[in-house]
Amino acid sequence: FSPEQIDRLEPMQLLVIINPFSGRKNGQKLFQNIARPMFDLAGAVIVQEVITERQGHAKEFVETFDLTSITGIVLASGDGIVYEVINGLMARPDWETAIKTPIGLIPTGSGNALVSSLLYEADEEVHTCAIENAVFQIINGGIKQHDIASVCNSSSHSYIGVVIHWGMTGIVDVESEKLRFLGGKLRNLIGGLVCIVMKRSYYGQLSYLPIEEDETKSPLTEAEGSIHSTNTLKPTTDVGVSDPIPEHWKTIEGNFVIFMALTSSHVTENDMMCAETKTGSGKFKILYTFDDVTRGQLLAKLSESTGAVKIENFHEIHTRAFRLNPISPCIITVDGEQIDYGPIQVQMHPGMMRLYSR
Ligand code: ADP
Ligand code: MG
Repeated sequence: FSPEQIDRLEPMQLLVIINPFSGRKNGQKLFQNIARPMFDLAGAVIVQEVITERQGHAKEFVETFDLTSITGIVLASGDGIVYEVINGLMARPDWETAIKTPIGLIPTGSGNALVSSLLYEADEEVHTCAIENAVFQIINGGIKQHDIASVCNSSSHSYIGVVIHWGMTGIVDVESEKLRFLGGKLRNLIGGLVCIVMKRSYYGQLSYLPIEEDETKSPLTEAEGSIHSTNTLKPTTDVGVSDPIPEHWKTIEGNFVIFMALTSSHVTENDMMCAETKTGSGKFKILYTFDDVTRGQLLAKLSESTGAVKIENFHEIHTRAFRLNPISPCIITVDGEQIDYGPIQVQMHPGMMRLYSR
């Protein structure tokens, strides 16, 4: 037996965090009606159930919770609570072990990118019975490593586990909030269509560490731009947001329409952007378009469901570290949450977190 399999012989002891505001504000009902009976049947023990009361509550809760009383954390939410929980665990004095707590994801939000990517990778149905399939993944007890990344701007440092948006898709994330009652699919579709019709572009610069698509994960070397030694300290970006760009990095600039940095295949359950981008790969796939992209090409990407068709004027970069210097103001979101506007320095920390996955 591997240590992972031995873990499975013990009943799961779970902390469950439910965002009642997620999706069509029915996260709690979906958890109680679909997920809870499945956990009960599987003999999983729910040690504590937390219903989040406001933004930031999940982060604060996991910052002080006694993790020795549980074997894993289950989140019934969208990607926003994943972001909060990663940051709560990383804010603890025992962050090094806390971030290794297995996390299970149940898609009750309007943006369920990470769990949709996991289901897709496990050949599970993402669109129908996604909640049931997600609970099966957790009960099954298999564990997979996933990456987190540091995002630093001039005033803050946070960790992400899903996706960074700037430009059109950042606007869809934030501006479609008022369409929450429609559910994730319609909300993102209408938001996306409005943005395609307007097709605004935003001037900016992207500097990145070039790597090969099949390059295996390893920390940045000094030649790649490592400035600070972070061996025993909490991981952060080796290059500071106001440091000069390392010589070996590449820079592109122009009027961006789309900019997204993906850690996995999906950006919502209905939008698979890159079928081959896998969780835990140790690198980002940056997908971007400049303003020479046509509305037809944008629409083709929006309606393309395999994530595998290459569409002209959509460009891809593989990297483990980058700086985005957004010169024209436009919303930046990390895991679906808006952050302060300005340059960001981003760096992957491969395999730092663990997710329940078949
Ligand atoms: P969705 O995918 O539907 O956007 P998320 O899980 O990403 O769902 O959460 C959306 C936002 O809801 C997050 O910013 C989160 O902090 C916030 N939130 C959590 N609990 C509550 C609550 N009780 N009322 C309002 N907002 C909340
Ligand atoms: Mg969200």
